[in-house]
Amino acid sequence: MPPPFSYIFGPVPSRRLGQSLGVDIIPSKLCTLDCVYCEVGTTDKRGLARREYYSVEEIVAEVGEAIRQYPHLDHITISGSGEPTLHSGLGRIIRGIKMLTEVPVAVLTNGTLMTDPEVRSDLAEADIVSPSLDAASQEVFNAVDRPHPDLRIEKIIDGLAAFRSEFAGQIWLEILFVRGMNDSNEEVLRLKQAIERIAPDRIQLNTVVRPPAEPTALPVTERRLKEICTLLGGNCEVIGVYHEKTVTAEQHVDAERVVALLRRRGMRLEEMADALEMHRADVARLLTELVAHGTVVKQVYEGETFFQARDTE
Ligand code: SF4
Repeated sequence: MPPPFSYIFGPVPSRRLGQSLGVDIIPSKLCTLDCVYCEVGTTDKRGLARREYYSVEEIVAEVGEAIRQYPHLDHITISGSGEPTLHSGLGRIIRGIKMLTEVPVAVLTNGTLMTDPEVRSDLAEADIVSPSLDAASQEVFNAVDRPHPDLRIEKIIDGLAAFRSEFAGQIWLEILFVRGMNDSNEEVLRLKQAIERIAPDRIQLNTVVRPPAEPTALPVTERRLKEICTLLGGNCEVIGVYHEKTVTAEQHVDAERVVALLRRRGMRLEEMADALEMHRADVARLLTELVAHGTVVKQVYEGETFFQARDTE
């Protein structure tokens, strides 16, 4: 079994980014927000301090090794189990990756630190930046994203608008709607005003499609997402739809995805949850069933538990 990666997950097929190699540069779960819908779980370390949480050189070296293992990538995507702009070496990481490959680099961020010119300068090294913006009023921002107390939404919107004026690459703005929290016409119209300032290349609407940190975070209907898309106008598209009646089929597909991933190499539960964009509890439940069935084997390596698909050939 090849040594497991520490910072790499996937590649995973992504609707937005094609075959995407994930790079997780932040410890779980360190974030500036504690979103009610977060699929990683509740934020236990909410902070604003930027640090070199992991070695830039080690991260870039792993990306180099992963590129050799997976030569057919559409994007390298920096994201993970927390907010990636909290890593103070983000700009050096992107530059290091771009010296290794011409595969475009995307960063998924919650955008809250874009008030800082250094963060904007780091992000400007990427080809695609996908910030999220779930609210345009402080009250709704507090309810949905439960920010660090020093974060003000009007300053964040200023930061996003400043980034637009400095960045020549693609900005894909993602808005996640939670039923009864940020889906009113009033908030949507406030968001529309903010979006006019940010001028993203794409506006992508999402909802709660995976188990959230708070069970009270409910999805909005596809119909409402489409209405909101019409209200926002322009380059808006719906990227996440909640299908209430397809749970069993989804579970079957999820089990197949887990096994497909584990056929490539052994992985830890956390890596799988990140790679598959699933909640850890769901991956754990599937693994329990797959191990009991004999499809997947569990191994302990240097004190850590790995799972691998049983070779059936
Ligand atoms: S959804 Fe993203 S921004 Fe929100 S708490 Fe989770 S990791 Fe942080």
